[in-house]
Amino acid sequence: MQVKETIEQLSNELRLHNYKYYVLDQPVISDYEFDQKLKELEELEKKHPEFADPNSPTKRVGGEVTKNFATIVHENRMYSLSNSYSKEDLIDWETRLRKLVDGPIEYVCELKYDGASISLTYENGNFKQAVTRGDGTQGDDVTTNIRTIKSVPLKLKGENFPSKFDIRGEIVLPFEGFTQMNQERLENGEEPYANPRNTASGSLKLQDSAEVAKRPLECLLYNITGENLPFKTQLESLQKAKEWGFKVPQHFTLAKSIDEVLAYVNYWNEERFQLPYETDGVVIKVNNLYQQEELGFTAKSPRWAMAYKFKAEQVSTVLEEITYQVGRTGAITPVANLQPVQLAGTTVKRASLHNADQIEKLDIREKDQVFVEKGGEIIPKIVGVDFAKRNPDSQPTQYLTHCPECQTELVRKEGEALHFCPNTTSCPPQVIGRIQHFISRKAMDVDGLGGETVALLVNEGLIQNYADLYTLQKEQILPLERMAEKSAQNLIEGIEKSKQVSFERVLFALGIRYVGETVAKKLAKAFTSIEKLMQASFEELIEVDEIGDRIAESLLQFFEVDANVEIIKRLQSYGLQMELSEELQNQSSEKLKGQTFVISGVFEKVSRKELKELIEKNGGKNTGSISKKTTFLIAGDQMGPSKKEKAEKLGVQLISEEEFLTLLD
Ligand code: AMP
Ligand code: ZN
Repeated sequence: MQVKETIEQLSNELRLHNYKYYVLDQPVISDYEFDQKLKELEELEKKHPEFADPNSPTKRVGGEVTKNFATIVHENRMYSLSNSYSKEDLIDWETRLRKLVDGPIEYVCELKYDGASISLTYENGNFKQAVTRGDGTQGDDVTTNIRTIKSVPLKLKGENFPSKFDIRGEIVLPFEGFTQMNQERLENGEEPYANPRNTASGSLKLQDSAEVAKRPLECLLYNITGENLPFKTQLESLQKAKEWGFKVPQHFTLAKSIDEVLAYVNYWNEERFQLPYETDGVVIKVNNLYQQEELGFTAKSPRWAMAYKFKAEQVSTVLEEITYQVGRTGAITPVANLQPVQLAGTTVKRASLHNADQIEKLDIREKDQVFVEKGGEIIPKIVGVDFAKRNPDSQPTQYLTHCPECQTELVRKEGEALHFCPNTTSCPPQVIGRIQHFISRKAMDVDGLGGETVALLVNEGLIQNYADLYTLQKEQILPLERMAEKSAQNLIEGIEKSKQVSFERVLFALGIRYVGETVAKKLAKAFTSIEKLMQASFEELIEVDEIGDRIAESLLQFFEVDANVEIIKRLQSYGLQMELSEELQNQSSEKLKGQTFVISGVFEKVSRKELKELIEKNGGKNTGSISKKTTFLIAGDQMGPSKKEKAEKLGVQLISEEEFLTLLD
């Protein structure tokens, strides 16, 4: 078979699997099989750049960096919606409509997804461009970022789509992914994001599209605009959009009267809490597109559509007690323990209080009557205090000063919202949490050992840190509750096997604050062994691409603690991988040793990401800004003029992409 045909066939196959997985939620092949096929396609494309396609399934992983998003004028304006809050509002609206159009009016009711609006342009079935709403007349070109969202089709299915059209929708971050992102942030000692909506809209403007690709964003579509559209009603348009491969949630319905609209509103007012993503209301649209045209727009919004906002469900209850939780990194989170109360269909006993500032801002005190709200987030939050009901003797909340688990005095660094327990070596939840992190799937992935067993082992005094795992004897664990011969054997074997886990994962497993998976990889590659990393100075650390002051400081602090160094030495003596595997090291050369690079602009042959990887693999260093130490500035298209000026001033040599590639030959 011709290469071109193979590429096409593989692309089509991958596209179909992508659609089944992300749009229909019905995967038919395993992730592994999918990755194999994707790899195959990637290799073919690399060998045959002449068949490159910006909409190839391989382009979903991102990598392109956008410094400034171009402003694009919307061909069709992106309007906002009028709001309504009651039956009366809707009846008034219908009365206005009746004066403007003849005949019966039917409505389509849809959910109002709470995220960031987006307009996608398709030409001849190909994804062309994505623009944010902006001020409605013009927005930002975020095409590269949107391309990484798997539920956005890059090529349409079927044939009967218009040659050119815009489709509007909402980029949302489903709760599950949001919670997971926050868990990872907390584990790395970072502040969690406030809510899915802001995180979704912030994602659109990230400069590194590879970062966007990692976020579990979704694109839900609800409106098509353009000329010669092959449908006459909103309902048909949604069905068509679905046929062409777009993700259109199936919850829309046709209503023949305002009463039917209200039934839909009432139903979803309760049921919305079962949805995987956030909604803040219902959007009601006149179904007939001819009637829509008759009705037209006001300056701000279409006359033919109306939003009905859900009221955030709120109840009031007594705040019994504020308690504090200690996380793996020592971060303290305050929790409100409430008198149980019914809210949005569930019994609520606890609510999050975020941090000391929040408690102070709302002046929340124990025994207060508080208002609890269930908005988008899964955990309800306290939004205010009923001051009229406050006991006159009540005193302002004194935030916790000492760790509830180990009584060490808490610290709060400047500019940080969270308090920390600094007793990393013997504060129980920190000790247990750190070992749990060490054995977790993305870290050492120890078979046969779970989080609960870790807690048991610590509480029984069998281990105090993760190095102790490697001296555990079967005889010691057999007497433990629920530990049979077989499970004890598995545990010991799992620990033994983990000695093969690669250096970058060991580094991640150590649980150094701010050293997540990606950072661990970067560090492993840049320094190749734990010794070299431990000897690195602040300056050497921040030289590494994407390692900032915060991470560098955290590393230095970690290695300053004798107990940590001691544990690392022990791990090393047990045979854990403390340097980059030969395989990885061999992939590389020392050709660029001692040379420092700055990359700027857009490149043709290799992406910025690939350039950076090439530099690192060959012993060079990437930095973000030009200094006297910079050896070369690799200049692409659209390089910033200030960079060029600075390079010239400091006498840094400018080279092109081709010149760089010849350095490696
Ligand atoms: P607002 O921002 O409150 O004026 O509401 C208007 C926004 O609601 C639009 O810009 C859309 O981004 C968003 N929206 C969410 N779901 C829908 C939907 N099903 N139909 C129309 N607009 C929607
Ligand atoms: Zn403590």
